Amino acid sequence: MEKNYRVLLYYKYVPIEDPETLTAEHLEYCKNLGLRGRILIASEGINGTVSGTVAQTNKYMEDLKKDPRFADIEFKIDDAEEHAFKKMHVRHRDEIVSLRLNEDINPNEQTGEYLEPKEFYEAMQQDETIILDARNDYEYDLGHFRGAIRPDINSFRELPDWVKENKDKLEGKQILTYCTGGIRCEKFSGWLKEEGFENVRQLHGGIVTYGKDEEVKGELWDGKCYVFDERISVPINQVDHVVVGRDHFDGEPCERYVNCSNPDCNKQIICSEENEHKYLRGCTHECRVHPRNRYVEEHELSQEEVKERLKQLGKHSLNKHKKSAKLNF
Ligand SMILES: [Zn+2]
Repeated sequence: MEKNYRVLLYYKYVPIEDPETLTAEHLEYCKNLGLRGRILIASEGINGTVSGTVAQTNKYMEDLKKDPRFADIEFKIDDAEEHAFKKMHVRHRDEIVSLRLNEDINPNEQTGEYLEPKEFYEAMQQDETIILDARNDYEYDLGHFRGAIRPDINSFRELPDWVKENKDKLEGKQILTYCTGGIRCEKFSGWLKEEGFENVRQLHGGIVTYGKDEEVKGELWDGKCYVFDERISVPINQVDHVVVGRDHFDGEPCERYVNCSNPDCNKQIICSEENEHKYLRGCTHECRVHPRNRYVEEHELSQEEVKERLKQLGKHSLNKHKKSAKLNF
């Protein structure tokens, strides 16, 4: 298929006077243009991922930069074969990225030192350095920088508490932070500085920029990078691709993400096509037998067929292979 589409990833921390009005206008504008995606607007700025044809996305970038507030916004551009979203959403939020700190950070006033991909590549290999993944656990599990710490948290919002609990292990070290496009690190690295850590640096442009950099070519990245659209993941390391994802059910190397078939759970799990069928795409026994199991609905399985499938699994196969990816310092 030809790549006549593009996916844009971008953000800008800049004061927005009347975010509600901009939200409504921007939704109208994006819909008219034919874009699809998810954009958040707050009084602190804008954060978006959108997809469209090359012409549509060019027009969007051009128009957005005409607004003085967004004149220097940086776009990460990926070629694509089709839209990466089903609909167009523009939403007003309190924050464009949710860290829910007691005292909010303005990255324009306080943030970690920016490192370009080459600088980050070199810094990662220095002594007394801690590489801290500023994303969620399921994102880390699919791919991360070699040797990076996986904070034992379920969501980005829990990161500050995790840092406080592990303060003694971080103190006195060079701390490198990274995330998908850079937006989370802007606040998180700023918060680390507020907390008294001095040597805090962030990957400018995030993992996706690192993967496109001509010099580093994504080196020292293992696995794939999780993205928040229908592509689910994108490749980063152009030199030596190592699979780090592990199948939720049997622990085998795997890079395929699905959502648990229990609509009330919806957890992201890595699993092969074979295991998806075998386990009815349910992350636990409870999810597999859920009355509204989406896998069962999609495949129009009868109760008899479900019973048979569960019987084949036996009693001992419930997540026995699930491995902890927790890393030690
Ligand atoms: Zn589940």
